[in-house]
Amino acid sequence: MHTTIQKLARRVFTISSTHEENVKSWDDPALLHCTVFGASHNIKRDKEHKRNDMLDAEFDQLILRDEELPACIIGVFRELELLQDLGISEDALDRLVRATAARYQLQPYHNFRHAFDVFQAAYLLLVRSGQVKFASKVEQFTLLVTALLHDVGHVGLTNGFHEKGNTAAYSWPYSLLSKTHPELDDEEQQNNESMHIFAARELLFGQDGLISAHDKDLRETVDTTMVALIRASDTLTLSAFLSSVDARIGELSGPLGRSNDPADRLKVLSLIIRLADIYHPMRPFYLHKMWAVSIAQEFALQGKVEQELGQETSPMTDTSTYVSSLGKSTIGFIDFLVAPLLQRALQAMPELPTDLASSLGSSRLKWSTYDLMVRSRKASNEDMKALGASENNKAGKQKDAEPAEMQGKTPVECPQDGLCAVSMYQTL
Ligand SMILES: [Zn+2]
Repeated sequence: MHTTIQKLARRVFTISSTHEENVKSWDDPALLHCTVFGASHNIKRDKEHKRNDMLDAEFDQLILRDEELPACIIGVFRELELLQDLGISEDALDRLVRATAARYQLQPYHNFRHAFDVFQAAYLLLVRSGQVKFASKVEQFTLLVTALLHDVGHVGLTNGFHEKGNTAAYSWPYSLLSKTHPELDDEEQQNNESMHIFAARELLFGQDGLISAHDKDLRETVDTTMVALIRASDTLTLSAFLSSVDARIGELSGPLGRSNDPADRLKVLSLIIRLADIYHPMRPFYLHKMWAVSIAQEFALQGKVEQELGQETSPMTDTSTYVSSLGKSTIGFIDFLVAPLLQRALQAMPELPTDLASSLGSSRLKWSTYDLMVRSRKASNEDMKALGASENNKAGKQKDAEPAEMQGKTPVECPQDGLCAVSMYQTL
């Protein structure tokens, strides 16, 4: 095995075991910092009371401590009354949440906070779309559990990297680095999200799994829907998915979200999980920007690995340029991935608030001037440095205007607006 892959695998597993200990040592939350349905719990921190409603468009998970996340998650299942009917105890769900959190790696973007972000967005979309009254309890349960599990074990490398690096060829446990596993069948091995499916199944149906002691029917139903929804989180399939939604919307006289047809139900749940997975541009800008920077950092780390391997680096992985073109790439992400999905979601579920579209538009507008602002700030810093250099020169001292490694480098541009970002996002 290539030594860089070996080193990377070791790093991943080292982080994982330490991380697992950290998660195990989470205490029960002394204070609950989330509210469900705006109902009960007030935030009390540093003698300040503040509401942080999980159904609020302004919901800010950064206020929450790690140890408070399981209680917030369980609160949602309790509020929607999803556990009793399925015979699942809150203690068992708590164990699943902690085991899941431990299986997420400490990547800049694909970490347990991302899973929580997707979970909260799925919950919000479920309720705000009216699907909470229309979807069955099993559907709601599976959607929310899948939101938590959909990226479990992600090592911060895109599917494109795995395919290029042929990491699937390495034997278990290093094939964690790939999205395939020898125990999966042919169809599953070909699917990019297979590793997440494998890990999610282990957590849900394994020895200490959430549904191990329950009836076969429930297990089968949850498994079929969960696998379909994890696969739906693969953005490479977005275009085909949107076409199938369009075709179905054209055939139906009423909204897709009101159809009882099992295939339509899966389309609606897929719409929710897909949109929840890339929901952050509709959040307050400071939260959205944090996620946009985090994914750029993760791409940049991949670029370093590719460089070490002597491979051509993927788009968006060049650390010297991602900051200066973050606006352009995020606009590409919004235009090509988020907006088309949101448009179909609003068509399929007309009860969804249309202000989601205005929030998205407002984020896009902010990004439209972002790169220019960063460049002008950089230029003014360079002017200041140059000024300092000429002052130093006058004093007989030599000083470089920019660090040696940056000298002579010009920013690499996307070939077309945002398209390189889209291709990178499509291989997540
Ligand atoms: Zn995700």
